[in-house]
Parts: sequence; C-alpha cells; structure tokens
Amino acid sequence: MTDTANTGTTQRRTALVTGGGSGIGRAIALRMAADGFATAVLDLNKEAAEAVAQEARKKGHEAMALGGVDVSDRAQVDAAVQEVRIAYGPVLVLVNNAGKTGFKEFLNITDDAWDTILAVNLSGPFYLCQATIPHMIEAGWGRIVNISSSSAHSGQQYMTHYVASKSGLIGLTKSLALEFGPKGITVNTIPPGFVDTPMLRGSEQRGLLGHSVEDIAKVTPVRRAGRPEDIAAACSFLVSEEAGYVTGQVIGVNGGRNT
Ligand code: NAP
Repeated sequence: MTDTANTGTTQRRTALVTGGGSGIGRAIALRMAADGFATAVLDLNKEAAEAVAQEARKKGHEAMALGGVDVSDRAQVDAAVQEVRIAYGPVLVLVNNAGKTGFKEFLNITDDAWDTILAVNLSGPFYLCQATIPHMIEAGWGRIVNISSSSAHSGQQYMTHYVASKSGLIGLTKSLALEFGPKGITVNTIPPGFVDTPMLRGSEQRGLLGHSVEDIAKVTPVRRAGRPEDIAAACSFLVSEEAGYVTGQVIGVNGGRNT
C-alpha cells in the first residue's frame, strides 16, 4: 500500500486521537485523516466520535470511531487499541488530547475531584502510551504528541489539580522521549493556550475566565483567540517524517500569551 501520510515510506500509518469528538481533538483527527493517516477517533462521547469519523470519511479519508471509550480505564483503552490494530494495523501515531478541566479553591478540592482529573489527564496518556508504544517499537517508527496546557507554564489559581496533571504530562513527554528516541519514536507536547472550543466557552459561561473570550482576544499578542486548527497544524508537523529530530519538546501554541 502506498503511504500518503507524510512519512516517506510505503507502510500505511495509523493515527489514534483521544478526545477526538470535540474542539482541539476534532481538528487534530480531521487533520490527521486529511494528511493521509488512517485515523481512529476515540472519545467518551460516542455520537461525537462517530460524527467526526463520518466527517472525515465524507471527505474521502479513512477514519473509524472508538466511541464511548474512557481513557482513564485501562481495560477500555487496551480493547480500543486492539480494535484499531485489527482494523487498520499498528498504531504508529498517538495524540493524547482527551482532557478534563476543573476549577476549585485548593482547600476545597476533594480527593474524588483530584483523582478524576489525574486519571483522565495523566493516567489516560500513560495507559495509551503503554498500549501503543509496543506497536511503534515493532515498526521502528512512532510519533506521540501529548496535549498539555499553557497553564503548566504559568500556574493557574483554582486549577491546581488540572495544572498538576498537565505538568505531569510534560514530564511524561520528556522522559518517554529519552527512553524511546533510540527506537525511532519521538514524543513531544503541545501546551495550547486560549483556544476557542466548547471547553473554553464552558469556562467563559461559568464566569471562570474573568472576561469574555472576545475581550481576552483583544489583549492577546496576536489579537485573536486560538483556533483548534492552530493546534492541529502544529501536531501535523510533529507527527511528520521531517520532524524526526524534534523530540522531548514543549511546543507552545498560544498566540504569544506565554513566551
Ligand atoms: P473539549 O472541547 O471539552 O474536548 C475534549 C473532548 O475529550 C470531549 O469530546 C470529551 O468528551 C473528551 N473526553 C473527556 N474526558 C474523556 C475521557 N475520560 N475519555 C475519553 N474522552 C474524554 O476540550 P478542548 O478545549 O478541545 O481541549 C482538548 C485538550 O486541550 C484537553 O486536554 C485540554 O485540557 C487541552 N487544553 C485546551 C485549552 C483551550 O484553550 N481550549 C487550553 C489548554 C489545554 P465529553 O464531552 O463527553 O466529556
């Protein structure tokens, strides 16, 4: 099979994007499919995952949905990765994007809230990496992109659990890059900042941003909010063949809000 994904080989490449049913993940999944990867769209929301896969297929791309899968459940993750392997072959590109936000004064964060955020944002990527890295080692080629958060650069009051989970994801990224670089696998992280998605609008509606998205855009250096496609474009580069010398890096895409 001729590979159309920008990878320079004739082997078909499969991408798995978590949280692919909405916002940034949706844009990444559509971009991976458009770039020529057979793309698996994993999301807790079954209908959303199916809708995105269908959208990609309508454009003539190869995509499947992994709906109703919770990244914080190792058994569900393992079963989903196996499903992709059977349908499309080994998963050689993994984008850990699914994430859960939280907003609470530190002293009021419950054990449950802490555990849930850490489970989705950090244990999820841990399970997915353990499930897919063996595929990449076998192929001698792999790409992992972890979607962290600009809040891990700066810290963010009332989001201690979220920021701690995303900072952990950056540490996971750097350590995996060192361990698996010799196997042809690159691991990088994109910390997005202020990207106009349902998650951001949800925070706006609950008054958690302090201002409207539009007002914040006016004081953002590039004078606009981020678009999910901005993150997808960076991701597209990081999973390409030509990014083979880029690993262990934190590639901020935030309109200049964090430098
Ligand atoms: P979003 O619109 O809320 O999309 C997140 C998607 O992930 C949703 O479809 C959600 O499904 C899914 N998801 C949540 N928990 C999951 C789980 N346990 N297993 C599988 N799927 C799950 O959010 P977004 O703004 O695109 O954010 C994407 C990523 O970027 C997140 O990791 C977020 O932390 C990070 N980020 C975003 C921004 C920003 O400005 N938007 C800034 C920094 C970092 P449900 O809707 O069913 O929950």
